[in-house]
Amino acid sequence: MSAERVLHSVTCLGCGCGCDDLTVRVRGGRIAGLAPPCPLAQRWFGDGTVPQAISIAGRPATLGHAIEAAVSVLRTANRPMVIIAPDLTTEAQRTAIAVADVLRAEADGATSDSAAAGILAAQRRGRAAATLGEIRNRADVVLFWAVDPTARYPRYLERYAAAASATHADRRALLAVSVGEDRGPAGAEIEADFAPDEEVDALAVMLATVRGRPLGEVAPPFQRAVALAERLLRGRYVAIVHDAEEAGPAGGDGQRTESLVALAQALNGPTRAALSSLRAGGNRSGAEAALTWQTGYPMRVSFRDGSPRSRPGRSGLDRLSAGGADAVLIAGSAGALADLGPVPGRVPSVVVGPGASRVSGAGVAIDTGVAGIHEAGTGYRMDDVPLPLTAVVEGVRTAVETLSLLLGALRVPPRGSDG
Ligand code: SF4
Repeated sequence: MSAERVLHSVTCLGCGCGCDDLTVRVRGGRIAGLAPPCPLAQRWFGDGTVPQAISIAGRPATLGHAIEAAVSVLRTANRPMVIIAPDLTTEAQRTAIAVADVLRAEADGATSDSAAAGILAAQRRGRAAATLGEIRNRADVVLFWAVDPTARYPRYLERYAAAASATHADRRALLAVSVGEDRGPAGAEIEADFAPDEEVDALAVMLATVRGRPLGEVAPPFQRAVALAERLLRGRYVAIVHDAEEAGPAGGDGQRTESLVALAQALNGPTRAALSSLRAGGNRSGAEAALTWQTGYPMRVSFRDGSPRSRPGRSGLDRLSAGGADAVLIAGSAGALADLGPVPGRVPSVVVGPGASRVSGAGVAIDTGVAGIHEAGTGYRMDDVPLPLTAVVEGVRTAVETLSLLLGALRVPPRGSDG
């Protein structure tokens, strides 16, 4: 049995907080303990073991044969698609994008539906954002809009929005809005509760109050909205926190996100404000960053014409489900794609990533390790700050190496071609 290794300052991608202060003990090739004891981090790291199978049509195969079979599936397609699923390093994401380029495929991330509202609103209006460190040290008023970060982002409060010490804020006021069943944190200085069909109006009342527009008589459900806006205006630095992964009743068409972007913008005049968008883990934001720097677009990109073009409208996963591709490469944790359903059984599929061999119907499946557990590289925090990832458990095939092999094989001209 190998000796115990203790790794310090390990980055966790269990959620978008990207905490980089973990200590992980590894014994005998397994994770034996981690601190601090975040419950979500413990679930995400597990004991560090992952499947390490390779298969073609459900039968065991060598890596070389699987790469050949993957090339054959993807190269013969007329409308291939590449989906960048979670749990890849940004280096692996970049390689998956290069594969899409070689194939003249469409490429999309896993969360373009939930992230699209915020990205598009920011393009229309601009966006007042901040790093989590800035929020920790400067925010003296924090408004939680229909989210209590405790369950999905366990250390967000302790590390950032409600951290015990701040360099530029003596005390911090927490305000909480609940919308239907999306509850804000309990014990806030002001708590407001809106029905789902009141949300957009409440945000409009707050925006008007911040802009100093005369409101006349305000109906009782929205008097709390006025009180909230007035409290925000008394802040020196306001942080508005919402869950970008949970669109919510008003968010289905992006209205919640659009209104919160507008509110944060309007507050930057009478005071200072930033919108903090909570994002899930697995380096989801990294896919948008890599797509942006490689293609100019954060999501829904088509290489079909030989150069990257935006492909507005439905997400790649939606289009895939609706028959919009005749072969797909899923790079990353396919199991984390809620909308994948039976697609791999219907469309010729190559799956490269953690748990690939568990994807039912995958034509070619190559298991790899998880970014930040078995693969070192770069991962992005929810505020788009890049962080170094550690290979905590070594000796597991990595996604970046596997995707690089696939990319290299695709770049070799097929036999009999002139190229
Ligand atoms: S809060 Fe999120 S990133 Fe931080 S340790 Fe917990 S799961 Fe990991």
